Amino acid sequence: MDEFDLIRRITPKETHQRSLVMGIGDDASVYQPHSHCEEVVCVDTMVEHVHFRFDFSTPFEVGFKALAVNISDIAAMGGTPKYYLVSIAIPPHGDEAIVAAFYEGMKALADRYHMDLIGGDTVATRSDFVITVTVIGEIPKGTACYRHSAQTGDVVFVTGELGSSAAGLSLLMNEVNAAHSIDTAFFLERHKMPQPHIAAGLICSSFPRVTLNDVSDGLASELNEIAEASRVTIEIEADQLPKHPHLPLLHKEWLEWVLFGGEDFVLTGTIPETDWKRFETQCKKEHIQVTRIGQVKDDRASSVILKDHDQQTILMKKGYNHFKK
Ligand code: ADP
Ligand code: MG
Repeated sequence: MDEFDLIRRITPKETHQRSLVMGIGDDASVYQPHSHCEEVVCVDTMVEHVHFRFDFSTPFEVGFKALAVNISDIAAMGGTPKYYLVSIAIPPHGDEAIVAAFYEGMKALADRYHMDLIGGDTVATRSDFVITVTVIGEIPKGTACYRHSAQTGDVVFVTGELGSSAAGLSLLMNEVNAAHSIDTAFFLERHKMPQPHIAAGLICSSFPRVTLNDVSDGLASELNEIAEASRVTIEIEADQLPKHPHLPLLHKEWLEWVLFGGEDFVLTGTIPETDWKRFETQCKKEHIQVTRIGQVKDDRASSVILKDHDQQTILMKKGYNHFKK
């Protein structure tokens, strides 16, 4: 495989962003930031056999997801994604068709958000593929949604259903058997091609005080991060957690998927009670399935508590600690 041929092949024929001054082809890219905006930047790496495998996902799906997880981080700040850069390490079993399919998967998602590929790096590796994607986005000054601003009385919400990606992975690993009536395609799609929640993040950043996190490591983990950063206790209600109706039919431990499964890439966070109705209305108008799942409590303990009927459980980042009846 010739590196220069490859770069030529993946270089976009046309670009979307008018602020782009110089894209792929020079030593670095140049773009003009908007004066009323702040830049939002993130990076994530996916390693073959650790984050993906070709017997589960096609190269197109791997590329799609590698970009999706980064766009999701921009969504979790309330930003708009604009540019992406891709560093790829190619092993001996990699050929140009696989690499081209990665880029097609990324482009399918990038086009939806009018994002431009503006650079990257290409290297050889001895054993596994490694794909590192950097995304650059923007947000009007002072409107980013951080993790540290939750206050007592705030509503805790989530912008989609939980546990579907973990169910999809379990199906791929043959850990569960699905009856014919179960929508397995839905769960597989959620795992292989997660959809970042940019539209929901934009609504969040239009409100004055929203804390936000995307569900990559699991709801329990994300809410613990908000509780720690804001020094509050977050209480959520087990029977309010949104899930696909078929999820409980797949496994009796489905709540584990909902709380700890992760990779759902929905957004979770908090908003003042006084803004909740207007927030909910705006989300519904844009067909965003927003659900109220709990409340921020007056307590500096920095913990997350799951209420299930009369039982209360402390949710650690990765597990339970039943503490009182
Ligand atoms: P340099 O030696 O200056 O780093 P390269 O030959 O690595 O230049 O890259 C040439 C151009 O192609 C640069 O604009 C770079 O950003 C881009 N590029 C290289 N590899 C990739 C890749 N895997 N994906 C996207 N763009 C790439
Ligand atoms: Mg280079």
